[in-house]
Amino acid sequence: MKAFAYVNATSERDAVAALKFDGIALPLAGGQDLLARMKDYIDTPERVVNVKNALDRTAAPTSGGGWRIGASMKIVDLLEHADIGKMYPAIIAAATDIGTPQIRHQGTVGGNLNQRPRCWYFRNEEFVCYKKGGSRCFAVNGENQYHAIFGNDGPSHIVHPSSLAVPFVAYGATFRVIGSKGEREVAAAEYFTMPDDELLTHVMLPAPGNVKTGHYEVRYKASHDWPLAFTTVVLAMNGGIVQSGRVVLGAVAPVPWRSKPAEDALAGKPLNEATAAAAAEAAVSEAKPMSGNAYKVPIARTAVKRAILNAAGIKTV
Ligand SMILES: Cc1cc2nc3c(=O)[nH]c(=O)nc-3n(C[C@H](O)[C@H](O)[C@H](O)COP(=O)(O)OP(=O)(O)OC[C@H]3O[C@@H](n4cnc5c(N)ncnc54)[C@H](O)[C@@H]3O)c2cc1C
Ligand code: SF4
Repeated sequence: MKAFAYVNATSERDAVAALKFDGIALPLAGGQDLLARMKDYIDTPERVVNVKNALDRTAAPTSGGGWRIGASMKIVDLLEHADIGKMYPAIIAAATDIGTPQIRHQGTVGGNLNQRPRCWYFRNEEFVCYKKGGSRCFAVNGENQYHAIFGNDGPSHIVHPSSLAVPFVAYGATFRVIGSKGEREVAAAEYFTMPDDELLTHVMLPAPGNVKTGHYEVRYKASHDWPLAFTTVVLAMNGGIVQSGRVVLGAVAPVPWRSKPAEDALAGKPLNEATAAAAAEAAVSEAKPMSGNAYKVPIARTAVKRAILNAAGIKTV
């Protein structure tokens, strides 16, 4: 690991000031992703700013009936939060399946949302791809079995690694961010395409209203590894009929992937097995797999169908 200066920020203002630096400065939360990248010379910051003591570690209700979650909150504290569990069960489902107990005790909400791609070319210092300022993507003609099946029109074909990002987008969250130009709130769905030069301080969840929610993850086997594909659905109901819904897929695209075809297939339909199957089929209709990952298409279809069945209270295997 290359030598670096360490700053222990104790307020949001200190953290922003320390990150404004003539050189490379990066925020440190639980450190599980950043320190691993530094040890592998993927990132070589001159300054590391510990933001764990600078950012909020708690969750609090908002005046609008929603919740505000601090970026320094540990994943384990999020998943054990009784009120959030009652109001936003899909967030708890996603948090529960992240890694191992040790990872959930060390990892933070802010670090989880901002972790960098797991692409093996990205994680190897020998491969200088687009994501590291190079001029090509090695996954296109290389080993791409865990890469994207949606959103493959851009230069990179990663899948976004955050499990929490998907339910946050599905619940319509906004993120509060701060930087040298001040603070602002952005829609969670837009955050993942923004330049990463601001600090995430809070996740703002709106009151969920009369919704049914479901979450389903498919893994290679029962292990601590990242999922192959997963889905969160949040469905606004009118009696037994789906009025509208958000269907968001994870581990299948460079960003949490909101499926408009699946949402259209759900709107105005009764929440049952036939509707779930039709929406799942619609979700994968726009998939564009790469040379080695067509197997992820039926997995994504299954994740969508089972998340909807989960919302309907219909038991799946
Ligand atoms: C074996 C294993 C399995 C895992 N499985 C999963 C899984 O299934 N799903 C999943 O989602 N994750 C998984 N993870 C990832 C783990 O949850 C993340 O490594 C962890 O959440 C990162 O959190 P951290 O607080 O340690 O982040 P750090 O390593 O401290 O930070 C991660 C990145 O975010 C930046 N950052 C940190 N805080 C902020 C902030 N407030 N604003 C802006 N940028 C910030 C840092 O600079 C760094 O680049 C797994 C990890 C391991 C090791
Ligand atoms: S998928 Fe993205 S991170 Fe992986 S090699 Fe291509 S550009 Fe780099």
